[in-house]
Formats: sequence, C-alpha cells, structure tokens
Amino acid sequence: MLSYVNNKFCFLDKAKISVNDRGYQFGDAVYEVILYRNGQFLDLEGHLKRLRESMSRIDFELTFSDSAIKTIIKRLVTENNLKYGSIYIQVSRGEYSRDHSYFNMPLNPILVILTKRIKENFKVIIPGIKVFTTLDNRWSNPDIKTTQLLPNVLAKTKGMKNGFGEAIFLDENSYVTEGSSSNFWILNKNDILNTRSLDGKILAGITRDSILRCAKDKKIKVVEKKISLDDIQTCKEAFITSASSFVTPVVQVDEMIINNGFVGEFSNLLRKTYLELND
Ligand code: PMP
Repeated sequence: MLSYVNNKFCFLDKAKISVNDRGYQFGDAVYEVILYRNGQFLDLEGHLKRLRESMSRIDFELTFSDSAIKTIIKRLVTENNLKYGSIYIQVSRGEYSRDHSYFNMPLNPILVILTKRIKENFKVIIPGIKVFTTLDNRWSNPDIKTTQLLPNVLAKTKGMKNGFGEAIFLDENSYVTEGSSSNFWILNKNDILNTRSLDGKILAGITRDSILRCAKDKKIKVVEKKISLDDIQTCKEAFITSASSFVTPVVQVDEMIINNGFVGEFSNLLRKTYLELND
C-alpha cells in the first residue's frame, strides 16, 4: 500500500518514523479516521475540522492546508486502487530528543496517512451487538482526539474476549459517557432519542453530528442528556455511532436485553438514512 509517512509518500514496508517521535514516546499526537466509498470520503470536512481543533487544543498546528491533505488522500485511494476503505490520519507534535516539556523545541509536526481496504460495500442491514459497561478511567479531556488510547484499548479488548462488540464507559455517577470508540444512544420509552450532550466528557463524534441531522430530517425528537442504567433498562432501542461503524444496533447492555434481542426499527432507519446521505 502506498502511504504518506513522515511528511512524504512511501510504501508501507519502507515507511519510517523516528523513535524520538513524540507521538511514539508520549502519545503526543492526534488522529482521525475517515471512511471512503466509491469516490466519496464520508463527512470529510467535519473530520478535517476536528483534526485542526484537536491540534489547537494541545497547542500545535500543521503547516499542511486542508486542500493539501485532500490531494494526498485522493492520490492514496487512487494509487491503492481502493473502492471501499478507511483513511487513518495522524499528526504528532514532531521529533526531538526525549523530554516531557516541548518548551523551546524547534518542532515540526509529522503527518502520517494510511489507507486500509474494506472488501465490500457497507451493509445497510447488520446484526445487533452486545456491549458491556465499565468505569470511565480515561483522562479528563476525552473530548480531544489524541492517540492516548490505552484505557479504550484495554476496555475494548476485555469486551472482545468476553463476546462483547463494544465497551461502554460509565462516569463516577454511573451515567454513560460513550463507547471506547463510539458514541452511545438510546431510543427511550417515550420514543425520544437520547445521547449525552457535548459536556467535555465525550468526543464530539462527527457521525453523532450527522445522525442528529438525520433524526431531525426524519422528524425524530432528540434530547441530548445523560443516560442512566435505568434509562437503558427501559429503553426501546440502543445503538452506537462512529465513522467506521456508522450506526450499529445494540441488543444487549450487560445483562439487559433490549427490544427482546432484536434490532430496532429506528436504528435501522438511521443507519440507512446515514448511508443514503453519503451515497
Ligand atoms: N468516541 C470515541 C472515544 C471514539 O474513539 C470515536 C471514534 N473515533 C467516537 C466517539 C465516534 O466519533 P466519530 O463519529 O467521529 O468517528
């Protein structure tokens, strides 16, 4: 696969990053994942905007313009002959002899862009997944999309080992924050969609934002609020959203079976609407 590593095009097997890259040593880097389907990058503008916001939140900026990044990713999908795939963009603060503080370091951010092939077009109808809840033990700025993902990695892996498709984090008062790599939603007993508001405890998902617009379009009422375990117990449907999974229905949370274990109508409708929007 052709990739873009250390600010230049190269084949993945020849790609090199210094061991003094601050992303490697400190997780001092930010990232985005964007899905590609048949000539279209899904929600591209939103992802590029958030990439810049993440950099700004941790105090650096990239000299590459958005149009330069778009030119690079277009060349990668063309040369790699991708029909369906995902694009991973990572920018680290740069390379320098190891020191916690970057004060006075002449740093040059390092851009990495990798593509991954997906074999077939994205399915509109998919089965629901089971998820489990676990204490949100991440740092206090999960709203910044950094590569420091160890709590997410451990939680997701623990879930996978036990047959769960996603780990859902709970705050100290047992309200849902979000998934290890997704935002969490329910359709409550009054047919209102709930998802946590952007209160600094979750990532402002780009797909979350698109789904809010899809729901408005379909005249489904949404209230952004904290979701409790009791809310989940009585909800009609649950689902997660993310760039790589769009809308994924959830049919079980811990021991709680949702909608008798069947994928709900609204989850399907929103997934379909999102995919059609990006057709
Ligand atoms: N929350 C977390 C912790 C995530 O890692 C992701 C996926 N990047 C999301 C939410 C969903 O964000 P998006 O829809 O932009 O992929």
